[in-house]
Amino acid sequence: MRSERLIVDMISCSAHGMCAELLPERVSLDDWGYPVIDAAPLDPELVGLARIAVQSCPKLALRLQREPARAPARARR
Ligand code: SF4
Repeated sequence: MRSERLIVDMISCSAHGMCAELLPERVSLDDWGYPVIDAAPLDPELVGLARIAVQSCPKLALRLQREPARAPARARR
């Protein structure tokens, strides 16, 4: 299963702060109220909450990005 990570479009974001309230495990706010996202792949138990945060963003600035599939390792000869 491919993991997902949160990303934010800072141009669209208007610092409502809802994402930090809904997902404090991965989002904090800077001094101006803009989100600071932990970009590490989401733990499976946080994916549902992350989807709610994405759907709740009033500016559609928060997104889930799926990690690209890794190519299988080549066998050494
Ligand atoms: S909820 Fe959306 S608009 Fe509000 S701070 Fe988070 S990303 Fe920005």
